[in-house]
Amino acid sequence: MSETLDHIASAARTDAPPAILLDKVNKWYGALHVLRDVSLSVALGERVVVCGPSGSGKSTMIRCINRLETHQEGKIQVNGIELSDDLKALDDIRREVGMVFQSFNLFPHLTILENCTLAPIWVRRMPKKEAEELAMHYLTRVRIPEQAKKYPGQLSGGQQQRVAIARALCMKPKIMLFDEPTSALDPEMIKEVLDTMVSLAETGMTMICVTHEMGFARQVADRVVFMDRGEIVEVGAPNHLFENPQTERLKTFLSQIL
Ligand code: ADP
Ligand code: MG
Repeated sequence: MSETLDHIASAARTDAPPAILLDKVNKWYGALHVLRDVSLSVALGERVVVCGPSGSGKSTMIRCINRLETHQEGKIQVNGIELSDDLKALDDIRREVGMVFQSFNLFPHLTILENCTLAPIWVRRMPKKEAEELAMHYLTRVRIPEQAKKYPGQLSGGQQQRVAIARALCMKPKIMLFDEPTSALDPEMIKEVLDTMVSLAETGMTMICVTHEMGFARQVADRVVFMDRGEIVEVGAPNHLFENPQTERLKTFLSQIL
């Protein structure tokens, strides 16, 4: 695991704290050890893609970063703030971190616009008009402003996922976490969501994306993290990692998905 420790060391040399730091994180579900000494440092503005077999702990790792799950050992920091039971610190972290899930999780009884303005109005205390302008700005950015008055059920899966991205952006996060955002979509809709994520990456957003879309990884990822059985097994630049897998585990995984 010297590779991952090197990454921590390299981030430590810069002045700003890393956007995200995981240091020897361990988590169990009962007797099941799902994260094993996971260490990763993500710099501000960096794009990291996480891949690995089903059940390898990718979602658990992502969910620990905004404390939808708690870890039992090790340290997680977001923008230099350590995740703990301190609710104020958690509040500060959640403000910085947007999350997009595989299942879009839109509120079905609210319009697209209302889905996007709910949290800015109620959590950020933003005036309604300002929240609506912000929502329209991001709905335009994900290229569906004309859907604002509709309900989620009236949109395609790809459109709903783009709304979910716009909704997360309305909270003005500094970091975006994506957990397999395209894996519930029909093939023809995957590209429109990936295009949205690529343009977000181009704005300099710090991103961690769990995805098996290797074309996306090659296009935007600074680094790819390969997880297997709760461990980070390999980390590297996409081309290097895909063309020179060092472990049998990664070779096997790549042969299954490519
Ligand atoms: P991945 O996202 O890589 O498919 P997960 O992080 O979802 O993997 O799951 C890692 C392991 O933890 C799996 O063995 C899974 O069955 C288990 N697991 C996930 N969530 C829970 C939970 N809430 N309770 C118990 N076990 C869980
Ligand atoms: Mg998962």
